[in-house]
Amino acid sequence: MLLRHTHKEILPRKALTVNPAKTCQPVGAMYASLGIHNCLPHSHGSQGCCAYHRSALTRHYREPVMAATSSFTEGSSVFGGQANLIQAIDNIFTTYDPDIIAVHTTCLSETIGDDVYQITNKAVKEGKVPPGKHVFHANTPSYVGSHVTGFANMTKAMALYFSKSTGVHNGRFNIIPGYVEPSDMTEIKRIAMEMGIRPIVFPDTSDVLNGPMTGKYKMFPRAGPPWRIWSAPGTAWAPLPWAPWHQPMRPGPWTANGMFPAGWRICPSGCPPRTGSSMP
Ligand code: SF4
Repeated sequence: MLLRHTHKEILPRKALTVNPAKTCQPVGAMYASLGIHNCLPHSHGSQGCCAYHRSALTRHYREPVMAATSSFTEGSSVFGGQANLIQAIDNIFTTYDPDIIAVHTTCLSETIGDDVYQITNKAVKEGKVPPGKHVFHANTPSYVGSHVTGFANMTKAMALYFSKSTGVHNGRFNIIPGYVEPSDMTEIKRIAMEMGIRPIVFPDTSDVLNGPMTGKYKMFPRAGPPWRIWSAPGTAWAPLPWAPWHQPMRPGPWTANGMFPAGWRICPSGCPPRTGSSMP
């Protein structure tokens, strides 16, 4: 039966990917977090998950990938990882001093049902987050979607956490790339600049995961614009999502059409500045 369907001549299969890379959501979430300037990705789960996510990215990009983990033990697997995450936040800010910690969940913490929003709020109340520093999270259960979904969920989380309206139009155009390679992000910026657009691309992993070999180790390679610049998308002309897979799996109440906060739209040329209640 199988032989009947086997071609006698060997055909080139250039348009076919055998065993395509499809990994779990946290890999994409970690990749997106690396595209924020001075941000340390944090995997809320066991050490093995974090090691796998880091090595998957390192093997692909041939660059060191920094990330922290809540380092679950048997006890945290049963009773939840709150204590681990609060301790981790304290340790990370004390030791590595990033501006932002981007927490993503894993199979284990999602199955336990850890309320990461509540835990990070508790860390803030207990003074574990220094003034001017930030901790936000994305839910990335690995049994839903793939690394591409994880990237989208983390991007959505950073937009939700940081976006705010200043009420003043800043003349910028936000480009939100899907899961594309760092060199693609460079090209997106180049094309936008050719068109006379000063884009804010976030997340932006160019020069982080395809940086030159300088011989010097940098814990936080420069990634994209500092969050203070891109955290005001409410005042830009419009957000432009770059890929259809940027749609979240389940449109939440924050979206009007599955991607944008209510009132947002794509206007490639000449959108009037949005004001008042049209601002998300
Ligand atoms: S699939 Fe789940 S358990 Fe496996 S590495 Fe990903 S998050 Fe961890």
